[in-house]
Amino acid sequence: MINKNLIIQKLNNFSVKKVTIDVLRLDKVHSIVSGNKWFKLQLYLKDALENNKTCIATFGGAFSNHIVATAFACKQLSLKCFGIIRGDEFVNTKLSHTLEKSVEYGMNLFFLNRNDYANKTIPTDLINENFYLINEGGYGNLGALGFSKVFDEINNDSYSHIICACGTGTTLAGCVIKAKQNQNIIGINVLKGYEKIDEEIRNILPKEFKNKNFSVYNEYHFNGYAKKNAELIQFMNDLYEQYNLPTDFVYTAKLFYGLNDLLVKDILKKSDKILVIHSGGLQGNLSLPINSLRF
Ligand SMILES: *Cc1c(COP(=O)(O)O)cnc(C)c1O
Repeated sequence: MINKNLIIQKLNNFSVKKVTIDVLRLDKVHSIVSGNKWFKLQLYLKDALENNKTCIATFGGAFSNHIVATAFACKQLSLKCFGIIRGDEFVNTKLSHTLEKSVEYGMNLFFLNRNDYANKTIPTDLINENFYLINEGGYGNLGALGFSKVFDEINNDSYSHIICACGTGTTLAGCVIKAKQNQNIIGINVLKGYEKIDEEIRNILPKEFKNKNFSVYNEYHFNGYAKKNAELIQFMNDLYEQYNLPTDFVYTAKLFYGLNDLLVKDILKKSDKILVIHSGGLQGNLSLPINSLRF
C-alpha cells in the first residue's frame, strides 16, 4: 500500500560546485503511484466522497502518472473510475504499460480523438453516472492544498531553496503554500512554450498566498514534454551511478539537469540549502527502449 514514511536522501558533492543537497524521495512512496500524484489526489477524493459521488472521472495521456495514480486510489476507496484518454489510435493497439496497470486497478478507459480531447468532451456513456471530475494532471486548488500536506510530515525550516519539476504547476503551488518567509520556491518547467504557467500557478493559490514569490525556469524541457536526447539519458545514468538516484526522463531528470545548470551558472550558490522534490514517476521509464538505462 502507500508508505507514508518520507525519506530524505543527501547527495554529497553534487555538480561542479560540490554542494550537499537534500532530496525528498517521494518516488519511494509507491512503485507505481507517483508520489506527488498521490498527495495531489487526496483532497479531491475526500471532496468526492463528501459529495456522495460514486465515481471519479479524469483526463490524461496514455503514459500519464496521474491516470494510474487515480486508478490505484479509486481501487483503494472502492470507487468506480473512468480514465478519458487522449488519442483514439490506442483503441486498437496494445495498451501502454501505464494504461495496462490502470485497467488492472479497475479503471474504465475511454479514448477520445485529439480534437474531442482538446475540448474536454465527456463521453456519452458517462452522462448518467454520478461522477466527480478531476482535471488533467490533478491541476487545481485542492491539488495544491493536497500536495502542501507533504510539508506537515517533514521539517522544511532550514532550506533556503525548494525546487521541483512542473507540469501543471500544482505541485509547485503546494510548495508555495507552505514556504517559509525568505524561502525561494523554484520550478523547472518540462513543457515547451507553456510560459503562462506562472499565471496558472497563481490562479490556484488560495487568496492569502497569491502574492508569495516563486520562479519557474522554462529552458530545460529538452524540446518538449517527454522529449529526450542522448545527453539526458547519459545524465540519468550518471546520476544513478554517482548517487544511487533513479530519475524519470519526463520530469525528474530534467529537474536535476536544470538544478545542475543553475549551480553551474551561479544562479544557485554553494551556500544555499537546497531541498529537491523527487516527485516519482519512475514507471514512465518503462516506455524507453530496453537497455537505455543502467537501472
Ligand atoms: C505529474 C508529475 C509532475 C508534475 O506535477 P505538476 O503538479 O503537474 O506540476 C512532476 N513529476 C512527476 C514525476 C510527475 O509524475
